[in-house]
Amino acid sequence: MRTYRIASIPGDGIGAEVIASGIKVLKALSEKIADLEFLIDHFNWGGEYFKSQGKMMPLNGLQQIRNHDAILFGSAGHPDIPDHITLWGLRLAICQPFDQYANVRPTRLLPGIKSPLSAGGEKIDWMIVRENSEGEYAGIGGRVHQGQPIEVATDVSMLTRVGVKRIMKFAFSLAQSRPRKLLTVVTKSNAQRHAMVMWDEIATEVSCEFPDVNWDKMLVDAMTTRMVLNPESIDTVVATNLHADILSDLAAALAGSLGVAPTANLNPERKFPSMFEPIHGSAFDIMGKGIANPIGTFWSTVMLLEHLGEKSSAKRLMSAIEKVTADPNLHTPDLGGTAKTIDVTAAVIDVIRGANN
Ligand code: NAD
Ligand code: MN
Repeated sequence: MRTYRIASIPGDGIGAEVIASGIKVLKALSEKIADLEFLIDHFNWGGEYFKSQGKMMPLNGLQQIRNHDAILFGSAGHPDIPDHITLWGLRLAICQPFDQYANVRPTRLLPGIKSPLSAGGEKIDWMIVRENSEGEYAGIGGRVHQGQPIEVATDVSMLTRVGVKRIMKFAFSLAQSRPRKLLTVVTKSNAQRHAMVMWDEIATEVSCEFPDVNWDKMLVDAMTTRMVLNPESIDTVVATNLHADILSDLAAALAGSLGVAPTANLNPERKFPSMFEPIHGSAFDIMGKGIANPIGTFWSTVMLLEHLGEKSSAKRLMSAIEKVTADPNLHTPDLGGTAKTIDVTAAVIDVIRGANN
């Protein structure tokens, strides 16, 4: 029996709705595959917890999930609490101490889903690697003289040689593992003339270790137009925390909807558990309506299974997802359909149950 301990942290808004679906799908997989088992621990951390406890997670929260094999995360974001408190109090409070420095975001147009691009949407097959531990979201800065005319506020972007080198190595080796062996290093070293210049230099240094990887450099603003106008020229992409945050939301929209996009927050050395989550947030506008698209969570679950080395169940789940998206009757409203979260979930589970071993 292969048994995995999974920490489930649904968080708030539609995060809770889609993670409930993700857990059902994991259970269906373990019922179908005789020697596979998931022990799932639920953590009710997030905005509601904050309202009663004054913090997003308990002080010993990290200890409680430290020894799990993986974390399945929903969303941090509550309508009654400022976003920087929910984000830093939960998601970043896990990512940073667990050194999940590589955030990986696959983008591909799934069967049955339309891209807003009139041509070329079906050519999208990208892996965006986001530096997930420093850069613009390092958390350095401050605010003084609040509300006074002399008020000052700073958010200082910080890159370290160690941090850039490890993300470049990760991205080059991911690019090397893919058929096209093609990497685009996103930069802004024309305007940001210190850290981004170091970023470019380290990319060049690391590239020498990967002579078979074809790579180019692209300014982030130009990258947005290339993604829209020339999507087939892109394969693997590496960018800083902020740049990749923005580019990957654009990527998700080009692949049909934010609701289908997955991500993995990886600690590649496996010293700490990695965390898997849909890239979307709490979606206050649709929460409680039962129409959140759970596909992003299912695809994140595929990444979780791959990380655990469960290749065949990962494949089984991915092909169930693709069967379901191929049917427009099973599209939620974000994809132009009328299906509910539970319809999509039930359909994916049906395919898993029916699939031959
Ligand atoms: P959002 O991703 O929550 O929503 C953006 C838009 O996309 C909304 O119109 C929403 O309805 C739609 N959408 C998103 N996911 C969907 C899904 N699965 N199915 C159907 N439609 C979907 O982004 P936002 O509105 O900018 O943020 C809302 C809150 O979520 C904020 O508090 C923000 O800080 C938080 N947030 C958290 C995370 C995270 O925890 N990783 C990520 C992004 C935003
Ligand atoms: Mn984002």
